[in-house]
Amino acid sequence: MSQKFDVVVIGAGPGGYVAAIKAAQLGLKTACIEKYQDKDGKIALGGTCLNVGCIPSKALLDSSWKFHEAQDGFAVHGISAKGVSIDVPAMVGRKNTIIKNLTGGVAGLFKANGVTLLEGHGKLLAGKKVEVTDKDGNTSVVEAENVILASGSRPIDIPPAPVDQDVIVDSTGALEFQSVPKKLGVIGAGVIGLELGSVWARLGAEVTVLEALDKFLPAADEAVAKEAFKTLTKQGLDIKLGARVTGSEVKKKQVTVNYTDSAGEQKIVFDKLIVAVGRRPVTTDLLASDSGVDLDERGYIFVDDHCATSVPGVYAIGDVVRGMMLAHKASEEGVMVAERIAGHKAQMNYDLIPSVIYTHPEIAWVGKTEQQLKGEGVAVNVGTFPFAASGRAMAANDTGGFVKVIADANTDRVLGVHVIGPSAAELVQQGAIGMEFGTSAEDLGMMVFSHPTLSEALHEAALAVNGGAIHIANRKKR
Ligand SMILES: Cc1cc2nc3c(=O)[nH]c(=O)nc-3n(C[C@H](O)[C@H](O)[C@H](O)COP(=O)(O)OP(=O)(O)OC[C@H]3O[C@@H](n4cnc5c(N)ncnc54)[C@H](O)[C@@H]3O)c2cc1C
Repeated sequence: MSQKFDVVVIGAGPGGYVAAIKAAQLGLKTACIEKYQDKDGKIALGGTCLNVGCIPSKALLDSSWKFHEAQDGFAVHGISAKGVSIDVPAMVGRKNTIIKNLTGGVAGLFKANGVTLLEGHGKLLAGKKVEVTDKDGNTSVVEAENVILASGSRPIDIPPAPVDQDVIVDSTGALEFQSVPKKLGVIGAGVIGLELGSVWARLGAEVTVLEALDKFLPAADEAVAKEAFKTLTKQGLDIKLGARVTGSEVKKKQVTVNYTDSAGEQKIVFDKLIVAVGRRPVTTDLLASDSGVDLDERGYIFVDDHCATSVPGVYAIGDVVRGMMLAHKASEEGVMVAERIAGHKAQMNYDLIPSVIYTHPEIAWVGKTEQQLKGEGVAVNVGTFPFAASGRAMAANDTGGFVKVIADANTDRVLGVHVIGPSAAELVQQGAIGMEFGTSAEDLGMMVFSHPTLSEALHEAALAVNGGAIHIANRKKR
């Protein structure tokens, strides 16, 4: 007789494992199916995020930033650090230890919460049955009252630059280099391309980023994108916009990349090439032909605002459905779905999902950009505060960038917070908390902020919205 569960989750990424834990906490008998094996052939939980995404990339970003600071950033503090060197295998090894700890931590949480882990490939059959195929090819079927599909995404391949995980790599391969490439190419100036390009540039690689679009960071506020382009270029990233890759040839451990730009056909040679042009949903062998679950025209699993698919009792969350491909979006959808299965009226505010790019300076935003709001005909007031005027930023010798707060000109309600600068992600989260509660710029301005903090820049930008900033000259008098 097959096992029966209240909830079966396919995929243990940040969407799936959070959904499974939440469902179990709500008293539902829950199983989670995962097939990803680590280098030792053991099942590793945590999905892209913990194994080859958010956490490993941030580990390398932090290590490479420390190296960069030790090389170039200490002298200003009166500290001389001579003969600084980098042991790349040790740096990558540290990253791998963090992954092991975190993925093991998720396994521990499954045990603590009573989630049953089923190792293998999950496939949804008709009638909310799920087939599990283990690594030896043995199959079993479990039954579920509810199924949550959380199979995530994988890197997009492009024919002009086929990934061999040696010279031409995807984001996963770029986390495993054992030495610093002299000349590194990156196709794609999106979040992943910029973060991984920054890691290796800080360690000494000559980095060229080829971006097909003419516009840099089109989703960001234009003022932020402009500042980011200026700063990253100054750091040594050669970002070529309007550069469309047309072909590549690997020879003797180097790759020649052909691309076209406004000047015509170009050629450039790299020691390594990272393809970071985006990610696509994983639905391979996930759904039996009679499962009844529909995909949308772009290949994502079709869901409504509450992540319900076309089959009652079957849900899908995270990267495999529409919306931003972000771990926190996946997790919150997981919580929402688990709560709804348990009979609660949970919902999610898709308008307030923060975006972060962990370059230095960090880039982060929540809500709408000034350009979006103006395009929608919304009259706005804008307040900006530069970190160059922040005592805390000066003390840290990290004064690049600014905070920008955008508020409705009629109601003063904050509609967007955009930050480029130190701890941008943390500052934007403060804006997001305020915006969730409908804060006005005046409300933010009336709050007491600790001194000296980077957060004071958010306070001052909110004050500046209505011409009341204290530590910069206001454009507009009260
Ligand atoms: C380099 C990089 C850096 C990133 N940095 C950030 C960041 O800083 N912040 C952020 O928010 N996001 C970041 N992301 C994106 C983030 O990793 C994803 O948005 C997130 O992991 C999506 O979660 P998910 O649960 O939907 O899917 P995934 O994390 O992809 O997990 C899906 C899981 O399902 C399993 N699976 C798939 N099909 C089956 C099946 N049929 N049976 C069993 N198991 C299956 C897979 O093995 C996988 O473990 C980054 C991504 C990359 C690549």
